[in-house]
Amino acid sequence: MKSHWQDNEAKSLVARYAQQGVNADLALRVYSSRLLGREPKLVLHGGGNTSVKTRMPDLLGEETEVLCVKGSGWDMAEIEPAGLPAVRLAPLLRMKSRSRLSDEDMVRVQRANLLDPAAPNPSVETLLHAFLPGKFIDHTHATAVLSLADQPEGEKLCREVYGARLGVVPFIMPGFDLAKKAARVFEADPKVEGLVLLKHGIFTFGATAQEAYERMIAAVTSAQERLARGRRSLFPAVVLPRRLAPVADIAPILRGACGLKDDKIEGAWRRLVIEFRAGPAVLNYVNGKELSRYSQLGPVTPDHTIRTKNLPLLLPAPDAANMAQFRKDTVEAAKGFIHRYKAYFSRHNARAEPKKRALDPLPRVVLVPGVGLFGLGRSKKDARVASDVAENTIAVITDAEAVGRFESLPEKDLFEMEYWSLEQAKLGQSAEKPLQGQVALITGAAGSIGAAISRAFKAAGAELALLDKDAVAVEKLAQSLGALAVSCDVTQDESVRAAFAKTVEYFGGVDIAVSNAGAAWQGAIGEVEDKILRHSFELNFFAHQRVAQAAVKIMRAQGMGGCLLFNVSKQAVNPGAEFGPYGLPKAATLLLMRQYALEYGKDGIRANGVNADRIRGGLLTKDMIASRAKARGLSEGDYMRGNLLGREVTPEDVAAAFLYHATALKTTGDITTVDGGNIAAALR
Ligand code: ZN
Repeated sequence: MKSHWQDNEAKSLVARYAQQGVNADLALRVYSSRLLGREPKLVLHGGGNTSVKTRMPDLLGEETEVLCVKGSGWDMAEIEPAGLPAVRLAPLLRMKSRSRLSDEDMVRVQRANLLDPAAPNPSVETLLHAFLPGKFIDHTHATAVLSLADQPEGEKLCREVYGARLGVVPFIMPGFDLAKKAARVFEADPKVEGLVLLKHGIFTFGATAQEAYERMIAAVTSAQERLARGRRSLFPAVVLPRRLAPVADIAPILRGACGLKDDKIEGAWRRLVIEFRAGPAVLNYVNGKELSRYSQLGPVTPDHTIRTKNLPLLLPAPDAANMAQFRKDTVEAAKGFIHRYKAYFSRHNARAEPKKRALDPLPRVVLVPGVGLFGLGRSKKDARVASDVAENTIAVITDAEAVGRFESLPEKDLFEMEYWSLEQAKLGQSAEKPLQGQVALITGAAGSIGAAISRAFKAAGAELALLDKDAVAVEKLAQSLGALAVSCDVTQDESVRAAFAKTVEYFGGVDIAVSNAGAAWQGAIGEVEDKILRHSFELNFFAHQRVAQAAVKIMRAQGMGGCLLFNVSKQAVNPGAEFGPYGLPKAATLLLMRQYALEYGKDGIRANGVNADRIRGGLLTKDMIASRAKARGLSEGDYMRGNLLGREVTPEDVAAAFLYHATALKTTGDITTVDGGNIAAALR
């Protein structure tokens, strides 16, 4: 592993932070923490932590000995001085003479001694940093070190590689006991440059930031060199079906099997979204004959449990010629996983004090031979984290098995870690949103109504696949919303098929399809060219049918119900003169909505529509508004407010109606009117 330390970079950061009153020790601590945090072979997603012992004035201006240690919730890759809260060192050191200290008291003592009472909670490993005398201390969960330390012979292997350079600490849960044990191991040989924590990670220390960092790099390099020697040839592969099903066919089945009916709200589901990975290392691992042994041993460091659960779910290879069997096996396997997780929880919770509340029993990593790995999460972001951790797990186990045998921790320790309040706190406590875990596909997303729907659904927690013919505009919108952009012409079968496949490969399925794309054609019905009418039907009717059909296929494969939403328009019930070419297909679309409601209610799929009228920027261009206002002798504003309430209807008003239907679990076959009041357009 290469050191990325650069004196000039370090110096310029020190100079920059000096202007903000940050001392050089803390600035250098920030610098090398970022170097560690940017290397995924060292730490992942907020894992690991660092500290420096220094002096700084307290709030009253008095110079104080402090430990600046990584705060909970900060990621080292992007850490700032504020992410390393200063804790008075002397009170922390006094804790060392205690024989016991509860987690709650430990957190209280740490918080009570923060220089800034508003700072984040110091790391759960704060006392370990305090009890070791090194000025700069670095802690990572380095992949290569774990491959050696996660073995029945882990201690022997580490001593063989590191000799007297590093001390070896047996596994103990992070917290007070581990801090004391690590200090004792250090005191037995104070010449060590660091400590290996079996089945957990590695600490290195130094008098300078550079020394601690370079020692980390050197220790990891030694581990990598050891792993390169005397490797067994690995993972003989299983025989795979002749033709494997594509991810777009597998994902909805898998996602449905890994969803859970809400036991309080009828019709609601707890859904997860996916992140798929299939590099050579992943395939080598999932195709191994012994996958069911080496993948079911536990996490590589207990810190990962909150992201991936203890074990991944294993599925059989999906034979494209027999997907009915794959579905059956997948549903069985997921049920088994949920059952085993619940049993694991009650087994250990029976002894836990205080009692814990069970987390959801759904898998977070799914391994499929011949295909790859699926990370699962309540958001795309969480699914990515699960996949990153799973890929890291695969690297550690592959190397561990190449030089020995991978071994994890007893279940009891994993339970304690998974349900440790301080560990759960790392995930944050933000309340879940109404569309959390749901995938919404929106057509015509780049238009004014489509964009408003996209923003409203995003705010409600949905993951978005935004479809539009205008590739540039939809890409821009998707970027601003963290959504998937799909260039799609909804009048073309192949384009719609590809858009749904792309959405499913990316998120795992579709729960809400908002068929919104449309355009107005005009012409007196007795004179209009056939061609115009057919064009309009293609977009204003057949495209809705094409999108709804593709969505229903996926929703039924998932088996978690779903929601079809149609932008219908008031033209469907209140035709305007010369708007026949637009109104006729829209009227057919209204009945299309009812037909879907009728035929797929049994599958839990709801179909609803919104009738909006006179929306600026929708189908109504600036020129159209100007000419119509003029024709009626009205100002543009008065024309737009020409309804019973005298209020202009906005794209956001229309989006609110779509959002209502996305959450109204007991409503189907319904039209909501958003037009400020138009009795002629009222539904009877
Ligand atoms: Zn750790």
